[in-house]
Amino acid sequence: MRQTQLFTRTRREAPKDEVAKNAELLIRAGFIYKEMAGAYAYLPLGLRVLNKIVGIIREEMNALGGQEVLLTALQNRQVWETTNRWSDEVVNNWFKTKLKNGAEVGLAFTHEEALTNLMRDYIRSFRDLPAAVYQFQTKFRNEERAKSGIMRGREFLMKDLYSFNVDEITHQAFYDRAKQAYLRVFDRVGLGGETYLTFASGGSFSKYSHEFQTVSEAGEDLIYVHEAKRIAVNKEVLNDEVLANLGLKREELVEKKSVEVGNIFTLGTRFSEPLGLSYKDAAGVSKPVFMGSYGIGPGRVMGTIVETHTDDKGIVWPESVAPFAVHLLALFDEAGAVKAAADTLYENLTKQGIEVLYDDRDVGAGEKFGDADLIGIPKRYVLSAKTLQKGEIEIKDRATGVVTMKALSDL
Ligand code: ATP
Ligand code: MG
Repeated sequence: MRQTQLFTRTRREAPKDEVAKNAELLIRAGFIYKEMAGAYAYLPLGLRVLNKIVGIIREEMNALGGQEVLLTALQNRQVWETTNRWSDEVVNNWFKTKLKNGAEVGLAFTHEEALTNLMRDYIRSFRDLPAAVYQFQTKFRNEERAKSGIMRGREFLMKDLYSFNVDEITHQAFYDRAKQAYLRVFDRVGLGGETYLTFASGGSFSKYSHEFQTVSEAGEDLIYVHEAKRIAVNKEVLNDEVLANLGLKREELVEKKSVEVGNIFTLGTRFSEPLGLSYKDAAGVSKPVFMGSYGIGPGRVMGTIVETHTDDKGIVWPESVAPFAVHLLALFDEAGAVKAAADTLYENLTKQGIEVLYDDRDVGAGEKFGDADLIGIPKRYVLSAKTLQKGEIEIKDRATGVVTMKALSDL
């Protein structure tokens, strides 16, 4: 993409009403636009990052045998009444609205009810199981505080997968594979080093749920990390019994602030029973389907990457999620030779399938360097009259700052 074509621009000043570092930097660099507190639009650069995160998650969910769907955001009141989750006293973050005839509908904050209800039409016997179904869907949650930028939206994208199994044993085998898939996702998006499999409260069906918590000062959670075992315990469940249970000693754990980037849950028959999702086993006996749910917020992941991958100049994207692989900066000369060479180089790199953002704007070198640092693309290629004369280009690595020269003919 040519930067002259990009409709967004960078800003020197951070927006005044923004307190989260992720939103501040992403707004300044032109990745997102703040519509109102807890509601952000993704701009071309931001959407490229979000889509890369989504792509990585999708690959891992497909590898697990997940089948992708897209459910509706609008929710049927009756279905939620069946599981006792319609009432505002039970669920305090619903957004609800009314049809013309006065009937109430909800905007989904999660999709257990909707999908369990839908699957009733398709699961009849043990032969229809197991199944794993997922989507990337907008969720709406009337969050009380929305001060963490894109890490806590009132409207946000979630990948939610639901698993359907005949019993707890087969469920557990899938659940363990999902856990590994989640660890791979966080590794691949560049959060592997600081993300811990974390024991958290499990609800009615299992002792624990598992959260994936990324250590960050911007986090709203407190976890107790066992570095050698690469696991953690959420403060909400930390007590002597749990420690004994997990074979951990309190003095080996270090308290850290963290962001919950993912959460997986054994649901058991909590939803299948009230909604009547059952199957006939080999003997013809009807049994409730055993379920699990598995969530990741791609926007929260993106915000967390920004919180943990910056320096004083701007964002430092991991390669796997960067909006472009290369930021080509052309420092124009009077004669126009640099422009001509940069145009050709841009075409050549693009033809090789390399994703290039080409700064072809008629602005000074200082502005180009400053913007490149702020936007944070992993490799910066600088072509100037000086490098061109030697038939070379300067390559700077955004993360390490290491500069190398390369022959133009090699590119
Ligand atoms: P939290 O405790 O942070 O409010 P949660 O436990 O309610 O989150 P889940 O229902 O487990 O969240 O949602 C699954 C995933 O969706 C979370 O792990 C997180 O990555 C993401 N997520 C949840 N709430 C938000 C939000 N308000 N904005 C962005 N992402 C979110
Ligand atoms: Mg959670």
